[in-house]
Amino acid sequence: MRAALLIVVIVAAGLFFFYNSDSESTPPADSAATATDPAPAAVAPEPKIGMIDDERINAAESEPGNWLAFGRTYEEQRFSPLTQINRDNVADLKLAWYRDMGTNRAQEATPIVVDGVMFFTSAWSRVFAIDAVSGDMLWSFDPEVPGETGRRACCDVVNRGVAVYQGRVYVGSLDGRLIALDAASGEKIWEVDTIIDRDRFYTITGAPRVARGKVFIGNGGAEFGVRGYVTAYDAETGDQVWRFFTVPGDPSKPFENPELEAAAETWKGGNWWEIGGGGTVWNSIVYDPDFNQVYLGVGNGSPWTRVIRSPGGGDNLFLSSIVALDADTGKMKWYYQTTPGDNWDYTAVQDMALADMEVDGVQRKVLLQAPKNGFFYVLDRADGKLLRANPYATVTWATHVDLETGRPVENPDLNYEKEAKWILPGPLGAHNWQAMSVDEDAGVVYIPAQDNPLIYSISDEWQSTGLYKRNPGGWNTGLEFGRIAQLFVDNADSQPTPKGYLKAFDPLTGEDKWVVEIPHYWNGGVLGTAGGLVFQGDALGMLSAYDKDTGEALWQFNTYTSMLAPPITFQIDGVQYVSILTGSGGGDLFSGEPMDPVAMTASLDYGNYGRMLVFSLQGTETLPIPTARDKSIPEQTLAQVSKEDIARGERSYNTYCAFCHGLVVRSGGSIPDLRRMSEGSHEAFEQIVLEGLLSANGMASFSDVLNAEETQNIHDYVRARAEDDRLVAAGEKEEATLTWLN
Ligand code: CA
Repeated sequence: MRAALLIVVIVAAGLFFFYNSDSESTPPADSAATATDPAPAAVAPEPKIGMIDDERINAAESEPGNWLAFGRTYEEQRFSPLTQINRDNVADLKLAWYRDMGTNRAQEATPIVVDGVMFFTSAWSRVFAIDAVSGDMLWSFDPEVPGETGRRACCDVVNRGVAVYQGRVYVGSLDGRLIALDAASGEKIWEVDTIIDRDRFYTITGAPRVARGKVFIGNGGAEFGVRGYVTAYDAETGDQVWRFFTVPGDPSKPFENPELEAAAETWKGGNWWEIGGGGTVWNSIVYDPDFNQVYLGVGNGSPWTRVIRSPGGGDNLFLSSIVALDADTGKMKWYYQTTPGDNWDYTAVQDMALADMEVDGVQRKVLLQAPKNGFFYVLDRADGKLLRANPYATVTWATHVDLETGRPVENPDLNYEKEAKWILPGPLGAHNWQAMSVDEDAGVVYIPAQDNPLIYSISDEWQSTGLYKRNPGGWNTGLEFGRIAQLFVDNADSQPTPKGYLKAFDPLTGEDKWVVEIPHYWNGGVLGTAGGLVFQGDALGMLSAYDKDTGEALWQFNTYTSMLAPPITFQIDGVQYVSILTGSGGGDLFSGEPMDPVAMTASLDYGNYGRMLVFSLQGTETLPIPTARDKSIPEQTLAQVSKEDIARGERSYNTYCAFCHGLVVRSGGSIPDLRRMSEGSHEAFEQIVLEGLLSANGMASFSDVLNAEETQNIHDYVRARAEDDRLVAAGEKEEATLTWLN
């Protein structure tokens, strides 16, 4: 018996070593077989999966078949050394398997693939562990996020993925919990509440990062008015290790750390702490083993407009900054602010990548980021020194970044305090959270970039009174979203053309190696490979492989669904795979049936199918082709209402509804299009809006901010918009009435 036990242990240890050293050639089925071997239950060891640790991530190049961390390695370059799928054969790439995720909400996750298992999240922070070869589900975990949390999230019920570490899977739930799961079973081990104030609309949508026994997580919510911070928890116990606030709180109270006291000097006048201040770290947190630092990508101001937030001027540290902290203590080491005195929602939360690069003849360890503001930053990781800041898309808010002072030079002609102005980039950024890929050898970065302007216009209330009151149940941007649709329509002639592009960009010279234009601006993340390829899914539903040297499209697959999530690649049993989640949405409130000159999207044409798709050269699966969406609008029963009532409804709609249901009541495809509501929904309209009839879907009650009359006005506006688009579609009217405001 002892001998048998010893053999089992040796075999298990051998297997375990084998996984660790070279999982690429390890049959993933073996781990399942090991688990079900008819060995005595009392002596059979638990199957070990998800045994990632610091050493293993640091040595990620020795197991290129796995995707061990959010950006593949700690450097987060998202460039895979795999070459089986390459320029010469990518034309033969085929679907190996796909899985419906049972949702039509936006998909944003990067999977972790290790030891044959793929771990990822879908909408509502649900976690899945799937056999990466067969597509079979091993387990799933539902954190049971309360449906009404949907209303507390700016940009749908999204999640960008998990971290896997030492046999555990870590996920942040939309309602702000950090949860540790057993990687083998999906059972919950611990859960902590990361939210400091449950009355505020804090969320988590980002993927946790794990290193040195700690889990790092930030929050979202700056659009609603919150104060940003990042917390490190003990990976084993869930105990809090440190917390770093990114903006100062109420200056009459003690500061949490000395840096915040200094930062408070850069906030002048105003009661920013009452509105929140902003600076949420909702996406990028990167661990740097070279310096034992974590970098925080810090978000925009809350409210967006600085004249409300800090009327006396000032840089408003640490908004829109990259902040380096000691990973063990959370003490600040340096910061670099990309957008001093942020006025445009220019977050610096976009993915950061680490690289070794020769800059001006000196070999340096650099940090790379393409934040929303349109400049591509190259910083020295040792001290945060700015090395380069070249524009990577059309930028009008600033003329350039002065490399001597490290500061952008703002364009004085585009001050929108007195008058509405079209500005590039808009709040979606020249690049958003959609992943970029760094090709260190080629010296270029593949960026999903966009020109997507907004006509910025400051709050009517502030214009007329000089005062701004926090709106606890809605957005607190300081912008006049109540009439933004009207501004779009009235100023259509001067609107810069929105467009998307994938580009190979040299961050040192600022030159484009190549550019592929994409008709729609809101496209997916990017993966580069040593096979000479760049993969990207786009708004038109095409997953494409481009030649990384020329941008030539070598392969395209029609998924019939728009994509945002980044593709990844992995190799198991000698077979290389490429995977991607389909399903768009997120922060783009302009993606509804478009006003010229924006293209239609696949999700609008066919539906927004949340699916995991996995491709290989040996694939034999076919994707069902969906039937085109019924885009007809039912005839509306219009009550006798005045133009003024409709205009009142329009203003409320733009303040509370448009962020999800779309500007001018044209949905982007993932949230219901109210022009196509059933008669039953029309009858229940007040119950839905004021009593939370559909709160399980994320449509919580708005009775805290709307009364019955305002709800009726919104309903009248929705019906009037629907009828107008119906008449135009039927050829009974020439041009749609998009706004009743004036
Ligand atoms: Ca924002």
